[in-house]
Amino acid sequence: MSSTSDKVPSSKRLWSNNGMLMEKGDLVLVAGAGGFIGGHLVNELRRRGHKQIRAVDIKPYEEWYQLFDDVDNRTMDLADRAACEQAATGTRHIFNLAADMGGMGFIELNKAACMLTVLINTHMLMAARKAGAERFFFSSSACVYTAEKQTSAAVTPLSEPDAYPAMPEDGYGWEKLFSERMCRHFTEDFGLVTRVARYHNVYGPHGTYDGGREKAPAAVCRKVVQALLSDSGEIEIWGDGEQTRSFTYIDDCLEGTLRLMQSGVGEPLNIGSDQLVTINELVDIVEKIAGVTLRRRYKLDAPKGVRGRNSDNTLIRQRLGWAPSVRLEDGMRRTFEWIKNEMTNKGARRMFA
Ligand code: NAD
Repeated sequence: MSSTSDKVPSSKRLWSNNGMLMEKGDLVLVAGAGGFIGGHLVNELRRRGHKQIRAVDIKPYEEWYQLFDDVDNRTMDLADRAACEQAATGTRHIFNLAADMGGMGFIELNKAACMLTVLINTHMLMAARKAGAERFFFSSSACVYTAEKQTSAAVTPLSEPDAYPAMPEDGYGWEKLFSERMCRHFTEDFGLVTRVARYHNVYGPHGTYDGGREKAPAAVCRKVVQALLSDSGEIEIWGDGEQTRSFTYIDDCLEGTLRLMQSGVGEPLNIGSDQLVTINELVDIVEKIAGVTLRRRYKLDAPKGVRGRNSDNTLIRQRLGWAPSVRLEDGMRRTFEWIKNEMTNKGARRMFA
């Protein structure tokens, strides 16, 4: 894919070297701000001194993971074109993270719902163009990668060209790949500068850890806390636990997102850790953090996803001079502490009442 860097007039490069928006008064839209990554992104933009942030999500405010008083918060359904137009009005930078998604347990059983996110992405792109926004960020996923390259636990890390010939994850992955191409063509045909990240399994505090949409790191933390609280001594693992993955800590995700947004890189880039572990090894890490050893019960008929997946970070290193680096052990410690605290302070009352 061609780079779009040459299409960005230098007068429109609004970012300083430290990744802060140069004009702090510019209006930035974060779509999906009530979610895990969106909530952290709003906070990070605030932390970097940005003053004008519009945060939009379909969820009622009490369900947002993070909500800030100094931000223009709005509850809107961004599948609706008119809502996207309202949300985009006056914005210069748009981060589109809104999606109806979840972990393997959700995306394997809700393919139509996942594909309907195409309405959000399409209408947000149309609205960005209409509003005259300068940059549009789209959060794609490692699920765009062709399944054939992920059949072995000893997987060769996925590099960006591996998305083609296309055979992505059914439902969710097809929608992401289609929306990536929408971004590309909005750039080529309409001059809207787009930036596309392929996130690999992002985890951290302030995210989903129960209810069916959670991903493996949060699910493992929750199960370990449940085992501690109930004294069951046991943990259920989906599949045989030998499937491999890499997990990206939220701080790396945010740093990569902001670096990519300010860069001249017009083609999709992996934002993912390349620290490959089996699910059994992930459980080992959480057991060590919690100071417990549990009996493992393997649920072989549970949704498992691909056999192996890892991120090839050659391109991101080349193009951004940076790659994710937070060790899984460190990120999981912070995630476990947050989930444990949530479950013992309020979640446990909800779950065990
Ligand atoms: P999340 O589910 O926590 O956040 C997504 C948010 O979008 C939710 O708060 C949801 O309410 C909102 N949303 C859904 N439909 C909407 C609508 N019609 N209008 C407005 N808001 C709507 O998910 P996340 O983990 O924060 O992921 C953010 C983005 O990153 C998503 O696009 C996701 O596909 C992508 N991504 C995430 C991961 C990951 O591991 N977390 C990996 C790959 C890609």
